[in-house]
Amino acid sequence: MEGDAELRDLYQEALLDYYQSGAHKGKIPASDFYSHGINPVCGDELEITMKKDGAGAIGQIRYAGHGCVISQASSAIMAEALEGKSVKDALSLVAAFKDMMLSKAAPESLPGDLEAAKALEGVRRFPTRIKCATLAWNTVAQGLAARGQAEFKEGS
Ligand code: ZN
Repeated sequence: MEGDAELRDLYQEALLDYYQSGAHKGKIPASDFYSHGINPVCGDELEITMKKDGAGAIGQIRYAGHGCVISQASSAIMAEALEGKSVKDALSLVAAFKDMMLSKAAPESLPGDLEAAKALEGVRRFPTRIKCATLAWNTVAQGLAARGQAEFKEGS
């Protein structure tokens, strides 16, 4: 188990701000996209809904569910970063974030759209919590893959 000092270090102020922010919380009624994800190790659970805009990009994205500070803050950061993006750009942001979390890339190499995600860098030192940070991003990517990018783009 982590000590108090390490946990304080982990829950940086930026993360707490995102955790407390309700900006992208909730569920979109009659959404174009729905995906459900769980991280049984920690008990995090998420439902992600999206509404496409006229051009087939992600017009709106919301997350609902419950979980630890890291999973909720990461969901808020993900929603902020992906809203307004095309499916292709969203998936490349997910890939860049995961490369950082899995220590394949330095935080400095993250694209500008993921500036806020740098606050999650400290989580890399706690291997059991990495899945808390990646849950939202994996849930979106898996949902898009299952539904099919073309279908999301054209609507149905
Ligand atoms: Zn968690």
